[in-house]
Amino acid sequence: MSLKAMVFIDGGWLYRSRGALFQKLREENGFEIDYAKLPKVLCEDVANYLDEDISLVRTNYFGTIPSARSGYNTNKQYSFYDFLEVNCNYETEIHEVDVGSASDVRSDELWTKVALASALVFFAAQPGAYDVALVIGDDPDLAPALRRVRLMGKRVQIIGIRPSDTTKPQNSIFGKSRVTDFPPIYLDDHAADIRLVREHRLRTCKQCGHEEETTWAGPDFFCSHCRGKYRHS
Ligand SMILES: [Zn+2]
Repeated sequence: MSLKAMVFIDGGWLYRSRGALFQKLREENGFEIDYAKLPKVLCEDVANYLDEDISLVRTNYFGTIPSARSGYNTNKQYSFYDFLEVNCNYETEIHEVDVGSASDVRSDELWTKVALASALVFFAAQPGAYDVALVIGDDPDLAPALRRVRLMGKRVQIIGIRPSDTTKPQNSIFGKSRVTDFPPIYLDDHAADIRLVREHRLRTCKQCGHEEETTWAGPDFFCSHCRGKYRHS
């Protein structure tokens, strides 16, 4: 029987780490992550290391969104989270944060860490839910939760960004003891594998039925004309 793997993604961390990925590929304009492929690529890595079959049972994604009253247009972000759920089979947990208030500067990062840690421990306590946790995010604050789930017999794979020479061990999860069962996976080493290659194809507008070439792979497609109308209404 194959091992059950559950992926836990700190969405804010992943977003902030894109810079390191671009650098790795020497991309100045950046690129997009292939979110559908990402969990599978990492599961393959663990399977190869263990020389055992791994089946991906669930991908948990934790993210934040500015609250409505902060004046941001959050449509694009909501459709990104919908895309993760519908097209990539992610389970998303999204928290509204008030980005406007000065005291709230880091509340999005704190919320994400606590939500991720809670889910790690919660699923570890459900009999047979997972054998291996793949944690995307190398925040050292996750150490207590990682130690707990390992005490519960779960194995932990941490996926981070290769620490720079100036990173102090205490500021990195990789400097902590008893938090992992595997050598780290550095996402920057996988930059080329998780890069989204966009396909151009014809799609039908949901509003007017007109066909247009697009790279958009999300659930609902609106042609350029109808997108313009939406923006102004
Ligand atoms: Zn249209």
